Amino acid sequence: SGLILYESIHYLGVPRTLHQLDFGIALIGVTALLNFIMGSVCVRAGRKSNSLALVASGKHLISDTWSTLGIIAGLVLIALTGIQWIDSIVAMVFGVIIFVTGYKILRSSLAGIMDESDRELLAKMVSRLNQHREENWIDLHNTRIIKFGSVLHLDAHLTVPWYLNVHEAHNEIDRLAGRVREEFGETLELYVHSDGCLDFSCKICSKSGCPARQSPFEKRIEWTVQNISQNQKHRISTP
Ligand SMILES: [Zn+2]
Ligand SMILES: [Zn+2]
Ligand SMILES: [Zn+2]
Repeated sequence: SGLILYESIHYLGVPRTLHQLDFGIALIGVTALLNFIMGSVCVRAGRKSNSLALVASGKHLISDTWSTLGIIAGLVLIALTGIQWIDSIVAMVFGVIIFVTGYKILRSSLAGIMDESDRELLAKMVSRLNQHREENWIDLHNTRIIKFGSVLHLDAHLTVPWYLNVHEAHNEIDRLAGRVREEFGETLELYVHSDGCLDFSCKICSKSGCPARQSPFEKRIEWTVQNISQNQKHRISTP
């Protein structure tokens, strides 16, 4: 896009023929069509196989299609009006757009930043987990989705009764992981730590017949994208 910017500045005010434009429009149009088809195929295949990574790349491709349609509209406008300076302005604007889009895609896939589709899936995962909460799952915190290219990695801490042995705690993690995979599919890498509950956990823990209970159960805290992401065990906030 540096080149596009340079060219658009270079040609500002200089009369220029538009015959390259038709070819450009055709090329961009074909690209847009291919992106859209590929994107739709990816999203459909991803939903079928429950692969978040595929759905996410498909959505990226489809959103690329929309910005490409914008470029085409600009180019058609130039071709129709024949106004030379619009050409340079449009090229400059889209140079910036392409640069920013490219930067965002690069950043999100390199640094593993959660995008909107990840957040949506995390929300779906949370509601599924709320529906299937088990009494030994006292809370879930420190949940992070990290993307390495197309591989998704989910990290979380599950609070379980402190007196579970390693085998029992591992069982709880496996059951939770099973529920998570129902939402994310098999392509997900999952790493869940188990934390032992603390005294303040009893107020939000509904485990019946707990031999170590310090205080009665008060209320269940529904899991939300926000509270499973926070860096501490859940507790009833004291006013
Ligand atoms: Zn970890
Ligand atoms: Zn923890
Ligand atoms: Zn307990």
